[in-house]
Amino acid sequence: MNKSDQSPEYSVTTIERAKMLHKLHPLIDGHNDLPWQLRTKVDRVLSRLNINQHQPELHTDIPRLREGGLGGQFWSVYVATSLKKKDYVQATLEQIDVVHNLIRLYPETFQIALTADDVDGAFKAGKIASLIGVEGGHCIGSSLATLRMFHRLGARYMTLTHWKSVTWADSCTDIPLAHGLTQFGREVVREMNHLGMLVDLSHVSVETMNASLDTSMVPVIFSHSSARALTDNPRNVPDDVLRRLSKNGGVIMVTFVPQFVSQVVYEWELERKQFQSSTNSTKYSETGTMKRWDADNPKPIAKVTDVADHIDHIRSVIGIEHIGIGSDFDGVPSVPKGLEDVSQYPMLTAELLHRNYADEDIIKILGGNILRVMRQVEKIAQELQANQGSSQALL
Ligand SMILES: [Zn+2]
Repeated sequence: MNKSDQSPEYSVTTIERAKMLHKLHPLIDGHNDLPWQLRTKVDRVLSRLNINQHQPELHTDIPRLREGGLGGQFWSVYVATSLKKKDYVQATLEQIDVVHNLIRLYPETFQIALTADDVDGAFKAGKIASLIGVEGGHCIGSSLATLRMFHRLGARYMTLTHWKSVTWADSCTDIPLAHGLTQFGREVVREMNHLGMLVDLSHVSVETMNASLDTSMVPVIFSHSSARALTDNPRNVPDDVLRRLSKNGGVIMVTFVPQFVSQVVYEWELERKQFQSSTNSTKYSETGTMKRWDADNPKPIAKVTDVADHIDHIRSVIGIEHIGIGSDFDGVPSVPKGLEDVSQYPMLTAELLHRNYADEDIIKILGGNILRVMRQVEKIAQELQANQGSSQALL
């Protein structure tokens, strides 16, 4: 085995120190797709999959959440853009229902959190603060009323797009339709500011990142993205946008997705796609040609150190105040070595300790920064609400 393929080994003391930090300060993850797994695996019938027990097919279950010392989670109420357009809103409502049911079914573990104070309260009570994040502007069906009602149901961020562009905002993985934000897109951002809902710029194009930073009156977030300077994947954030994010006061929650944190994995994926389209393989994983390609080109492995490299880079460009964690567990088929599931968060913290990050800096990365942003967004929303009513756009 090549030395660089090996997982770093941390001393017991370092891992114990990491676990102690998680025990004393909330680790808040910006993105986990367990609700989508509960939709696809058990048709949202939660009693059919007991997450109080180890579930090897998932990255997430309660024993491993406790082992990893998670303090708060933005549960993603993602719905696939491949669904019929008319079903987006209903499917999102169903996914919000999944999160509420999860909290109801496991009250000893989860507690709903609508504000930063709620997160602190849940953490002090020994519960995992459970927040809701809507992934993709398609979920609101171009309706501000739907956005407002999602907020009432507990949603505290919305990612403006998913893999596909919407009519009013562009995805980084699709052709642009708005070239930034349309007038309605700007209305959505302002309405979110007004509601106290975090504007999430993961998945959007650079043009839409910039237009949103131009429009938002409050700090924004990237719930699960990493740095493009290290991994040239369009899902990542370029340095010039990072600099704007620091002026804006927001946070980028660094993700663990292998092709977002490792340039080698990303290039492997591109080569594979190129080969696939050159051979016109449609069901590529099932064709003999692709199987042979896979055998000849084993997939490289991302590591916990790659994730820490992104944190290092962002710190060097904009400082410690703008970094968080957004794993994307249960939303991806593969994960880095050393960060295989939710029990492994302490490995990342151990890597940061190994790199001589001060405890107070690690506490900010784990959750302090996102809580600061939430507090600021909540405060400004109160001021905006005191000064003006809801947006009246009836689109
Ligand atoms: Zn995503």
